[in-house]
Amino acid sequence: MAQDKRDYYDVLGVQKSASADDIKSAYRKLVKKYHPDLNKEDPKAAEEKFKELSEAYEVLADPQKKERYDKFGHAGVSQNFSPGGFTMDDFTHYGDIEDIFGGLFDGSIFESLFGGGRQRGGGARRGRDVRYDLEVTLEEAAEGLAKAVELPLEVVCKACGGSGAADAKFISTCRACGGAGQVQVRRSTGFGQFVSVSQCQQCHGAGKTITNPCRACGGRGRQADRVRIELNIPRGAEDGTRLRLGGRGEAGGPRARPGDLYIVVHVARHPEFERDGANLHSALELTYAQLALGAEVEVPTLGGGKALVKIPPGTQVGTTLRLAGKGLPDMRTGRKGDLFITTYIVIPRKLSSEQKRLLRELDGGERKGGLFG
Ligand SMILES: [Zn+2]
Ligand SMILES: [Zn+2]
Repeated sequence: MAQDKRDYYDVLGVQKSASADDIKSAYRKLVKKYHPDLNKEDPKAAEEKFKELSEAYEVLADPQKKERYDKFGHAGVSQNFSPGGFTMDDFTHYGDIEDIFGGLFDGSIFESLFGGGRQRGGGARRGRDVRYDLEVTLEEAAEGLAKAVELPLEVVCKACGGSGAADAKFISTCRACGGAGQVQVRRSTGFGQFVSVSQCQQCHGAGKTITNPCRACGGRGRQADRVRIELNIPRGAEDGTRLRLGGRGEAGGPRARPGDLYIVVHVARHPEFERDGANLHSALELTYAQLALGAEVEVPTLGGGKALVKIPPGTQVGTTLRLAGKGLPDMRTGRKGDLFITTYIVIPRKLSSEQKRLLRELDGGERKGGLFG
């Protein structure tokens, strides 16, 4: 759990003001000490220590992660907030998501999951995609959910407006690429001449060079901040549903597009209802008499309501009854699924002598008929 985590600076034994070199050398020293292959005394403890070290170093050695960690602590670099921590392959299964959610989020730009690749057409460094994992209850998934969350995100630097320069006069057109941000490389091979376009090394695709960088962001044009984002989880959202909010990820470099924000919905398990697509399943406890004689019983439905169910006389244990339209709305069609109730019986562990007498009487009286036999 995040709150049990040790401070990353403590883990590496360095001050908060330590330079990148200090951090690196502290890490190297400790890695030698705790590497599981080198530490024979207590390999298990060494492995734990090694993992902790690697995690701390991964954050503190990355200027962006370090900045977020300094500002927001472990929450800024936790797993349910993982910029770039996933690949597009994660989304291949949900290739039709855009058709489903197109237009759902006001003001957001929806692009094809596969056509809208990173770094399209060269240009400056596009902002990173951000993934946010959101857990919802089954009730919330059924009803849909509008919710605002606050995410630690890299935003356009307020001091320089994203230019990265202390003042506009310190920005000049890149000489290496003439401002295009990309350069053409011609290669001749046995098959002919090929022209490839690659990002300008001088300005990293920005097309501009800065002589005096902005102090607030160190010339990056971006800074860490907390951003409020309104989420709309659709009715009938399924576990693992991924929503894409185009352009709501991290800010890009100067002149670059922002990344996208992906919301991954996790639907929590419900104590009473098991979900199967738009259908729900639950169990209904009945007595022997209710099953044998038939009954009318109230059964709980999702969301706190109740439905009246007729149990026909002679109903067997394990019979499944269907309550049409008492499931969840289908995420795609909106059509309501059904609720399936399976009957079961609980045999009492303790009986009064009167109850025992009645049961024996019933058993004996019906023995010839084979009621219990
Ligand atoms: Zn700035
Ligand atoms: Zn350039």
